[in-house]
Amino acid sequence: MKNIKTFPEQKQSLPGNEHQMRPEPQIIRENYTGSGKLLGKVAFITGGDSGIGRSVAVHFAREGANVAIVYLKEDKDAQKTKELVEKEGQQCLLISGDLKDEKFCKSAVKKCHSLFKKINIVVNNAAVQFPQKELEKITASQLHKTFETNIYPYFYITKAALPFLQENDTIINTSSVTAYRGSDHLIDYASTKGAIVSFTKSLSRILAERKIRVNGVAPGPIWTPLIVASFDTLADFGKNNPMGRAGQPSEVAPAYVFLACEDSSYITGQFIHINGGELVSG
Ligand code: NAD
Ligand code: MG
Repeated sequence: MKNIKTFPEQKQSLPGNEHQMRPEPQIIRENYTGSGKLLGKVAFITGGDSGIGRSVAVHFAREGANVAIVYLKEDKDAQKTKELVEKEGQQCLLISGDLKDEKFCKSAVKKCHSLFKKINIVVNNAAVQFPQKELEKITASQLHKTFETNIYPYFYITKAALPFLQENDTIINTSSVTAYRGSDHLIDYASTKGAIVSFTKSLSRILAERKIRVNGVAPGPIWTPLIVASFDTLADFGKNNPMGRAGQPSEVAPAYVFLACEDSSYITGQFIHINGGELVSG
């Protein structure tokens, strides 16, 4: 735990900004070739301004989808994501606001639908984390913030989007390796990530009848703004997994493409573990 900053001592405000990160995260591999796997689809992605969400937006665009991204207030990062999506020849709707507010969630989904006239892929992905070395340091206020940001919006957004989803559409939820093996410094965060696993599995059972698939991705250490707020450098981060390094967003987003497209047509209620070789079950 020695290189971990704790909240609120950490200097950087949360969430962090990707444009200030050094080295900059890799968003997409130069040799990633799109093959129209999401041609004509519309994706709604929370936390799409930066990190994994941005990378997912760009991969989806390269595969032929238009995207709407929701973010808190990182306008500069969001603008860059929009440019990257447009470079792929696709449209990107930016929606800034607080996902803790159900009314905002409803209006965000509505905005996306009004512009694109459909929604095919929902990616629930926004989150915060506030490292604490002891359980006693987790205040009620921190606990509320972590749960209200990390899991409540998965319900709000999914409820709002469901009326628009049709056969073969998909929902993809971002959990974390911490849901499976726990975390000594992110107890509240890991608990929300466990809730996301149960939410995903429950929802997949209800929606199977409608032929809507619900899956998730459980990343390990990935170099994103969320992490800069908790760790000092890339060198410190991800050292303890079998591959001995952190992953890049570009190594995570292709799994979202797989779960969003027809290639995963017989998979629902499952998680893909992208964590540098840490063995977890479920
Ligand atoms: P990130 O900081 O780039 O993305 C998180 C985004 O969530 C932020 O950009 C922010 O705009 C958004 N957000 C936070 N609170 C919000 C609110 N109240 N309203 C609206 N938007 C809000 O970090 P990331 O690492 O790409 O995180 C994406 C997902 O990946 C998260 O669910 C995170 O838990 C998960 N994850 C990340 C790692 C990792 O090592 N980076 C590991 C496991 C899981
Ligand atoms: Mg961000």
